[in-house]
Amino acid sequence: MSGRLNGKVALITGGASGIGLAMVRLFVAEGARIVVADIQDDKGRALEQVHDGRVRHIRCDVTQEAEIAAAVALASTSFGGLDILVNNAGICDMMPSITAIEAEQWDWIFQVLLRGPALGMKYAAPLLAARGGGAIVNVASVAGMQAGWGPIAYSTAKAGLLHLTRTVAAELSPQRIRVNAVCPGMIATSIFGASLGMDRPAADQFAARVAEVCAHAQPIPRAGQPEDIACAALYLASEEASFVTGVSFVVDGGLSVGPRHAWDANAPNPL
Ligand code: NAD
Repeated sequence: MSGRLNGKVALITGGASGIGLAMVRLFVAEGARIVVADIQDDKGRALEQVHDGRVRHIRCDVTQEAEIAAAVALASTSFGGLDILVNNAGICDMMPSITAIEAEQWDWIFQVLLRGPALGMKYAAPLLAARGGGAIVNVASVAGMQAGWGPIAYSTAKAGLLHLTRTVAAELSPQRIRVNAVCPGMIATSIFGASLGMDRPAADQFAARVAEVCAHAQPIPRAGQPEDIACAALYLASEEASFVTGVSFVVDGGLSVGPRHAWDANAPNPL
């Protein structure tokens, strides 16, 4: 590791597991101090112990404005300020069609995936500006770019997050705050398992199913790993991306390139 985040302070929502956890580990290895804001208290506390003095956990439900404000404030009181916000916390609905949508579930998905990041930016931006600028990374999805890769409310909220990213990138540019999005494809975490209908599967069973799905869906025939997304977030959060704002950085093994039959003569063409 090369100290690409030396001296930086980052707030990562949903940092207790999956993609967020990989980000916490990578950002710490690159020299950052981290506030983890997650609803999983036990995992957050464990992270504090492993990374003693470099990670603080706060129980934070991103649907609760006061809890987001408290998480941002903790970066100030614990580490003296904030340089990076990663809006990563996420859930996935299983609503199969527009006719099956429950209004309450629609609202809940949007509160976690769209309102949460918006409020995160609301409270983080003044602290980033106070340091002379900073970086925000929103974790969206290829499902927010193309129809068919995710459930309806999830995909629509992620599409909204991409536009929110571009809009806020423009608004905060005078304060030297860059705002970008990462769009993961199929990444081997619990959210992906849920989308495959696998509830707490055995690790080997999960790995085999994910590998099978990815091998048939995308040009790079392996399962995406949380570390793949963490590397992209690190780039966007670091000074190496100082000329990059408002982008949707796709990290999906080529999933969004097109249907497999377009390049694999042996794959069935549904048309
Ligand atoms: P994950 O379930 O492993 O991690 C999600 C984390 O968010 C968990 O730690 C969870 O406790 C936390 N969280 C959930 N609701 C929360 C809330 N209300 N407040 C605070 N924290 C909350 O899943 P993941 O795959 O690591 O997901 C991370 C992000 O990546 C999500 O935004 C997800 O939509 C996005 N994403 C994942 C995939 C994939 O294939 N895994 C693909 C595209 C996008």
